Amino acid sequence: MEVEGAGTRGDVDSLPRGGFRCRLCHVTVANKPSLDDHLRGKKHQRLENLRSVRQSQELRSVFVSGFHKGTTALELSNYFQTYGKVLNVVMDKDKGVYAIVELQDEEILQKVLSQPQHSLGGQKLRVKPREKKDFRYTPPRKQGAARREQLSPEKLAQNLCQVDDVDAQMSLVVQLFEFSETERRLRDLVVKLFQEVFSEFFPESAILPFGSSVNGFSISGCDLDLFLDLEKTKSFQASARVAGKPQAEEEASPEMESRSEDSILTDIDLVTATVPEVLELVATVLQKCVPGVHHVQVVSTARRPVVKFCHKESGLRGDISINNKLALCNTRFLQFCTEADERVRPLVYAVRYWAKQQALAGNPFGGGPLFNNYALTLLVLFFLQTRSPPVLPTVAQLKDLSDDGELTLVDGWDCTFPKDPASLKPSGNPESRCSLLAEFFHVFESCSFAGCAISLGEGRSLPLSDFLLSEAGRKFKVGPINLQDPFELSHNVAANVNEKTALLFQRCCHNAAKYCRSLQYQHKSSKGKIWGLVRLFQPGGPQAAERLVISLPWTPASQSLCSHEQLPQSRDFHQLWFQRVRAGVSFVLEHVLKCSCSEKPQGPGEEWEAAGSDQEEEQLRTKADQWSVGSKRSLDMEEGGASPPAKKPRADTSLPTTESVIWSCTVWHRVWLGRRRVRRRFCSPEPDPKQTVDPLELEAKVSEAISQQDGETRPVDPLFRFTVCARTQDGGSGEQDTHVSLSFAPVPEQGAVFQDFFHFLQGFLPQMVERYLTTKSSGLHTPEGNPSQGITFELR
Ligand code: ATP
Ligand code: MG
Repeated sequence: MEVEGAGTRGDVDSLPRGGFRCRLCHVTVANKPSLDDHLRGKKHQRLENLRSVRQSQELRSVFVSGFHKGTTALELSNYFQTYGKVLNVVMDKDKGVYAIVELQDEEILQKVLSQPQHSLGGQKLRVKPREKKDFRYTPPRKQGAARREQLSPEKLAQNLCQVDDVDAQMSLVVQLFEFSETERRLRDLVVKLFQEVFSEFFPESAILPFGSSVNGFSISGCDLDLFLDLEKTKSFQASARVAGKPQAEEEASPEMESRSEDSILTDIDLVTATVPEVLELVATVLQKCVPGVHHVQVVSTARRPVVKFCHKESGLRGDISINNKLALCNTRFLQFCTEADERVRPLVYAVRYWAKQQALAGNPFGGGPLFNNYALTLLVLFFLQTRSPPVLPTVAQLKDLSDDGELTLVDGWDCTFPKDPASLKPSGNPESRCSLLAEFFHVFESCSFAGCAISLGEGRSLPLSDFLLSEAGRKFKVGPINLQDPFELSHNVAANVNEKTALLFQRCCHNAAKYCRSLQYQHKSSKGKIWGLVRLFQPGGPQAAERLVISLPWTPASQSLCSHEQLPQSRDFHQLWFQRVRAGVSFVLEHVLKCSCSEKPQGPGEEWEAAGSDQEEEQLRTKADQWSVGSKRSLDMEEGGASPPAKKPRADTSLPTTESVIWSCTVWHRVWLGRRRVRRRFCSPEPDPKQTVDPLELEAKVSEAISQQDGETRPVDPLFRFTVCARTQDGGSGEQDTHVSLSFAPVPEQGAVFQDFFHFLQGFLPQMVERYLTTKSSGLHTPEGNPSQGITFELR
């Protein structure tokens, strides 16, 4: 409620329980005496003054465009001086294509406006009164609050592990990802800026945000989807044209006349122009007239053509479309669903992030064969419609719930649903967020996508063959996943998803559903291990450990290992090669990267148990079962030392021949960070060609230096631990494999930091081991000359 007679032009709202809020200053106070203090106070007085100054400036200023690029403020000032005193000229900051000219009083302004034509330097000027806008005070940004720090997977995992249960984890995901208040305000300001500029060029137009900025599923930093509604501009243009004709002159308002003449619209007829033509115009306005906008690009080939842009100051990327009213409607629908049941948001956020981590969603540059966020959201909404009892009503039910006469037709589609979610009866479904998420995976792991069309309208899967015979079905683009838009019934929202993604989606749902049945999902770990969503959110999912493999191929450097009698195909060679690679890996991890490594002794037939592994790594263990056969022994891992060959497999000759070894490793420092910089310190700018630097020793020095930067050579707590199993095996055909594969398993709770390390190792380790084989493997033939000479060695 607005407070009357406060002398502040309705700036004050009264709040429940006796409080007040001053909208001008963004200040909330507890009671009337405090409000009076505030209204008498310096801040309020200053802002009131500022507002009246701005408003009077507005009334005396004109908006000028159409001048030559490079025209100066002084030239404009000189021109307008002929009508009276000019107080100020403000050019748009980075483009110089429009200017606000502030005149001394309104009388001069009227003189300027009554002049039918203005020109400067041979160029016709467009001169209009300024748009009237509300004065808005933007509080100064609090330090650090302007932009939320990017949330690293590591931090996310830490935060999630601390709460008590999966329901709390799901709420926390929403909190951590959604916009901060500052980001929301920043977006509002950018939208306002666009609105101001577009109103100048397209009178009566409206810029309307849609998509994740406003649909209840915001993610900090997500794109800004804008719809430029030109409907009213079209009518404006039509009336202005009529007004321009002499016989209709008396019907047009003077304001319309002056604006129509000045407008950019004289160059185009919005009713007959094609979408790309209008978008080109929009792009021109964006590029030339909106301060801070760059990288403007028209994409007219998309299903919904857009103009893409970046906004420098806010760092926002976005696009503007002009024929996407249905998106405004489905945006409202998604928002409606978030308000209808509080479980919707946590569930959608969790599924979206999971899908992104599994590389199921996140199409590069918007196009591609993966799910987009809209499609994923609809899948979740559909799932919620199909629970028993349902969490959400179907779209058909919502239509029935709308008041009579509320029919909303958009582009010929019935988009009717109630405006107010509060009109719905609460769902009688008692399922928790945690169990709904598990059920989501369970439902979709076995869904037969190919034979059906998923209908949110009816809240069920329609048999595809029947659906395709319907009117909407005839235009429907069938794909591996057929997800009908809730309103545009002939549109398959998942039409871009290819067979591979559809299969991967089901496989990932299967893995996730399996994991969700484990105690690790359902209960907080009492031992500080990762649990709940954290494991689900690991890149590649719960089975990710399987993919942490680095393969070391047989390379020409390895040829130096074999004497003439030991041919590469021979078993002896194979064993010798494995031993050398094994020594090399150990050398690189321990000596070059300063990790602590110990070889894991294993009993015969003992499983390979990755550090911290558990039942969910079944598959990994099954393999480890095989690998571990015959690998129990203590090995002399001294540099170049000729270790005894790994034992052959025991009696069971059907098993492939394996050589294997397992190490437990501890990493103390982030030795993968900033290596290039540190390396530069050790390399003299003009190397002495006679003095060669052994790259292995150089890299060891780099690791040492990075460790020392941290202060302690061995901190009390290690950074993380992992287990690595090196193995080689033949495929049973008797032919030896030409790879040693290194399978890594991090201690799960340190998965995120391990990912960085592993990524680094993928490039570093193979190069270093090869270097080791050519230079350090004792008793081997080395390539002619000094192997470290003349070889370019490039590392990150
Ligand atoms: P984010 O930008 O975070 O990925 P979003 O919901 O904004 O999420 P966009 O791809 O930017 O997704 O799409 C913006 C909006 O356009 C969506 O919210 C939806 O309203 C509409 N939209 C996107 N893809 C489709 C589609 N395939 N069919 C119909 N409408 C769509
Ligand atoms: Mg978006």
